[in-house]
Amino acid sequence: MSDTIIIGAGHNGLVTAFYLAKAGRKPLVLERRPVVGGCATTEEFAPGFRSSTLAHTLGPLRPAIVRDMQLERRGVTFVRPDPRLVSLGTDGRALVFSTDPGRTAEAIRPFSAKDAAKYPEFCATLERVGAFLGDLVGMTPPSIDAPSPGELWDLLKTGRKFRSLGKKESFALLRWGPMAVADLVAEWFETDLLQATLAARAIHGTAMGPWSAGTGAVLLLAAAIDPVPGGSSVSAVGGAGAVTQAMADAAREAGAEIRTGADVQRILVQDGAVTGVELADGTRLPADVVVSGADPRRTFLGLIDPIELEPGFITRVRNYRCPGTVAKLNFALSALPSFRGLSSDIAASLHGRVHVGPGIDYLERAFDASKYGETSSSPYLDITFPSVPDPTMAPAGKHVMSVHMQYAPYALRAGQWEYEKSVLANIVLRTLDSHAPGITSLVEHRQVLSPRDLEEQFGLTGGHIHHGELALDQLFTMRPVLGWADYRTPIDGLYLCGSGTHPGNGLTGGSGQNAAREVLKGVRVRRRA
Ligand SMILES: Cc1cc2nc3c(=O)[nH]c(=O)nc-3n(C[C@H](O)[C@H](O)[C@H](O)COP(=O)(O)OP(=O)(O)OC[C@H]3O[C@@H](n4cnc5c(N)ncnc54)[C@H](O)[C@@H]3O)c2cc1C
Repeated sequence: MSDTIIIGAGHNGLVTAFYLAKAGRKPLVLERRPVVGGCATTEEFAPGFRSSTLAHTLGPLRPAIVRDMQLERRGVTFVRPDPRLVSLGTDGRALVFSTDPGRTAEAIRPFSAKDAAKYPEFCATLERVGAFLGDLVGMTPPSIDAPSPGELWDLLKTGRKFRSLGKKESFALLRWGPMAVADLVAEWFETDLLQATLAARAIHGTAMGPWSAGTGAVLLLAAAIDPVPGGSSVSAVGGAGAVTQAMADAAREAGAEIRTGADVQRILVQDGAVTGVELADGTRLPADVVVSGADPRRTFLGLIDPIELEPGFITRVRNYRCPGTVAKLNFALSALPSFRGLSSDIAASLHGRVHVGPGIDYLERAFDASKYGETSSSPYLDITFPSVPDPTMAPAGKHVMSVHMQYAPYALRAGQWEYEKSVLANIVLRTLDSHAPGITSLVEHRQVLSPRDLEEQFGLTGGHIHHGELALDQLFTMRPVLGWADYRTPIDGLYLCGSGTHPGNGLTGGSGQNAAREVLKGVRVRRRA
């Protein structure tokens, strides 16, 4: 019999279940969809063609999680491509990013000798600042009102590390966070394509453009998990679903039970404490600890009787912003497209990501449209070809193209997503055609998922890919709301473990691992009481 219920078998829910089971709890994971994985699944979208349905690269995952869950022993083969990113310019040239700063600097040199000279210094600064922030990402955000002795100790250690950063990096850290990423990259580089490629990481999945204040903080958060400026391109053979399947195996082996097709309708509360959950079919399951991997708005506004929460708290959750701006497209292709600017061995360049968004103004204009409820006519695209590192994803000789498209606003000013999806797919193909002439003729099938689909099919409120905007006022001690960033909630025994909690930055497992630690702490405190 379970003592802990976890709502949702997204990767964070699975990580939480694993660590709780390892510590002797008996977690029961309830997932409303027929498969585990949440946003990290692999599905066949056309006969013989498989793709990571949504997320196509990994955060990357925290190394401790990979090790503890023994993901590689369970058959996960990680793909760590080099080059990791190819950025397509408008003049037919491409900028190729490697993990090694020296190699990337050489690739930058034909664009600007000055930028090539500065690039290694930028990498080193980002690495040092990222390493400092890596510690913050791993910790539970401290209480602002009344920090515990343990939290004060952690803060003291953080303060010491900050001082050891040195004047240049500590200054960079304080200045960069509130800045617009467009200003930040312009302080370093003059090449528009380079600036835009580096800035893209700070707007990925957000409702912000490169000129939005605070996008510097999103870049720093990304650097905390992977300091290489172009960002992570780690994927897995078999797609993101191969990773979450292995995570589910690890959680089961540790003692967790996982049920799919189990839609939690209500979190049950009595006298301010959680008592269990009720499923859509009316089944009631008791538990003295419930951990929700659903996003904060869905959890507090959708699953809990409002009478159980303070009106002030409800207002703050309502103000938590989740404006989805991403559409996901998976294309079945009869062959690999020929991109202008890449060497004759195209496949060798396509193990990692392809960036389309050749300038800062281009990215800002793409964002502008979404502010007024319109789809970008020249969108920012982040693309992978999962069938290049793993040919089993498509029939022999054919390929899969996975496209993350921004900006596609959740709320359209005119029209309905049901009808707009084919317009959107045509925009994406037209955009790509200028870089890979003839690509449209290679398309055999396409799957288009709008922000509405992300909400309806995957449970993401507002279609937001991070369970809520990654903005300065929704990070760290303020994620999801000030005063409740330590995975606890105003309801005794109810915790959060999904992306809507710190650090919440993609497929890293960070939120799930931090939450498990706090749940176990809470259980120990209760026992003592
Ligand atoms: C289109 C898209 C592209 C992305 N691309 C990337 C990328 O390339 N790299 C990257 O690192 N990240 C990417 N992300 C973000 C990343 O996928 C998410 O941040 C991450 O998967 C969130 O994991 P999670 O476990 O917190 O939540 P989820 O994966 O959302 O899991 C939550 C689970 O809870 C379930 N659930 C919700 N309500 C209930 C209920 N009432 N009862 C039972 N179950 C419930 C849901 O069905 C879901 O399975 C992308 C996301 C999207 C949507």
